[in-house]
Formats: sequence, C-alpha cells, structure tokens
Amino acid sequence: VTPPVTILGAGVAGLTTAWELTQRGLDVSLVDPNGAAGVHGCSWWAGGMLAPICESEVAEEPVVRLGALAAEWWARAGVEVVRKGSLVLALDRDQRELDRFARRIDGGVMLDAAGVAELEPGLEARFSRGLFVAEEGHLDPRAALASLQTGLAAKGVVVSQDAPTAGQVIDCRGLIARDHLADLRGVRGEMVVLRAPDVSLSRPVRLLHPRHPLYVVPRGDGVFMLGATQIESEGRGPASLRSVVELLSAAYALDPAFGEAEVLEIGCPVSAVAVSGSM
Ligand SMILES: Cc1cc2nc3c(=O)[nH]c(=O)nc-3n(C[C@H](O)[C@H](O)[C@H](O)COP(=O)(O)OP(=O)(O)OC[C@H]3O[C@@H](n4cnc5c(N)ncnc54)[C@H](O)[C@@H]3O)c2cc1C
Repeated sequence: VTPPVTILGAGVAGLTTAWELTQRGLDVSLVDPNGAAGVHGCSWWAGGMLAPICESEVAEEPVVRLGALAAEWWARAGVEVVRKGSLVLALDRDQRELDRFARRIDGGVMLDAAGVAELEPGLEARFSRGLFVAEEGHLDPRAALASLQTGLAAKGVVVSQDAPTAGQVIDCRGLIARDHLADLRGVRGEMVVLRAPDVSLSRPVRLLHPRHPLYVVPRGDGVFMLGATQIESEGRGPASLRSVVELLSAAYALDPAFGEAEVLEIGCPVSAVAVSGSM
C-alpha cells in the first residue's frame, strides 16, 4: 500500500502532478474548493504555448530546461500538441527588437520575407524578416485540462471540493500559496479571444514591440487567443480599455484581417510568479 498524497489545487500544476503520480501508482486525492478547472483558475486563460526557447529571453534556467520536455509530456498524456514551432516578428520600425530578441535566445533561424511567407502565407509581403523557432509547439489549454481530468477520473481521481487532506500534501494553489511562499507575486495577464475566419496563422506568432508586445495563438476553427499584458497587480477586476485596445491594435498591425474579427472573450487572470520569473 502506498502512502496517500493530497494535491491542493486543480489547475494545470495540480492536474499534471496528479496525473504523473497516478501513473506511478500513488494513491492521489485532488482537492480544490472551486471544483474542476474553470474560469476561476489561471490555467483556464493560458495561451498554451510550449515555448521554452522564446521564454528563455526572460525565464530562469529551470523553466527553460524543464519546458523543453513539456511537448513530449503532453503528448504522452494523450493531449494533442501542435508542433509547428513559433514565429517571432517585428514591424519595420521595430527591427532592432527582433535582433535583440534573437541575440538573447539560444536557437531560432532568421528567415527572409519569402521564408516568412512560406510558413505563414497570410503574412506574405508584410514582414521583411522573422525568427523561426522550429522546436516549439502549442496546445489548447482548456482541452488539455479536460483531457487530464477525464483520464484521472477513469483512474478514480476526481476533484473534491472539501475533502480532508491526508498524507503528503503538494501545494498547487497558485497565488493563494503566498501564505507559505512570501516571494510569490501576482501578474495580471489580460487576454482576448477572437474569431477571425480571414486570418490563417497556423502557429503562435509573437510581435515584438518596445512597449506593447503581442502574441497570437491559433486555437483552430478560425479562433485565436491574443495575449497578454503583464501588469504587476493582484487585482482580478475587469480588463482595462487601454490593455484591450493595445492588444487589438497590435493584432491589427500584425494582420489587418483581424479587423473583421468577432470578439469572443476578454479575460484578465492573475498568475503567480516567483521573484524574477515571467509568464
Ligand atoms: C493570459 C495568460 C497567458 C498565459 N500563457 C501561457 C502560455 O502560453 N504558456 C505557458 O506555459 N504558460 C502560460 N501562462 C502561465 C500559466 O497559465 C500559469 O503558469 C499556470 O496556469 C498556473 O497554473 P496553476 O495550476 O499553478 O494555477 P491555477 O490554474 O490558478 O490553479 C490554482 C488552483 O488552486 C485552487 N485553489 C485556490 N485555493 C485553494 C485551496 N485553499 N485549496 C485547494 N485549491 C485551491 C484554485 O481554485 C485553482 O483552481 C499564461 C498565463 C496568463 C495569465
């Protein structure tokens, strides 16, 4: 008989931990007062980019090293991972940002305009250069959370809202864990989901900008997630008009076909970041 393990929090951290320990035969219980993964958790709003090389511009070494294993892990867990890499772009006036970014990451191939158009035909003649990071991928976070929950339920692990804790406790409560980890801080990440059938991007695209960087993650069926502001704040509250305007203008600058998009969602979760990390 293996000793029981209680995991607090059923966001991506809690579910992946539960999955891994269940696979190894441990007796896991999963407790979250808010129930199954949903709008209350940061994971619901994530972009789903598996982009350790691009993140290495700002992230710490363990994030980059362990992030390199993520796509394989998700695929093994039965979650669909799209492996088409990431494309990093800058408008003509911001080309220095692209050079700076390329210098700061360890990887990527600089493409010319024809190379960018070959990868993303919808961007033809719009960008003179682009940095392509072939090793990266992306997934649909909500589908991934649902898939883990279904797989865990099949093994008898369901999210309980008020079970007592037993055995070893693993804390995956996100920002709430600040009661034990004083150096956690909140970062608000405002994001927008659009339906834009005229946009044909097939991989995450980052548009660098000195003040208002943007990334766009395709979700399939003409749906795109735009993210994200990174504002040092713990208040959830509604997204600000300024943030939404900045995201939408950047998307329009990336591809004017976003101009006809339908706005499906505006979200502003707060994610927990330790001392110097990014999200
Ligand atoms: C806009 C945005 C875009 C992002 N994009 C990406 C991306 O592209 N790629 C990437 O890798 N990361 C991305 N991130 C970061 C990623 O979303 C977070 O790092 C991740 O979701 C954090 O997961 P978590 O499980 O720690 O937290 P959460 O998902 O917030 O889960 C914490 C859970 O703890 C529960 N809880 C609270 N109190 C208790 C309690 N007392 N007991 C038990 N449970 C409790 C909550 O209900 C919640 O379900 C993004 C973040 C944001 C905001």
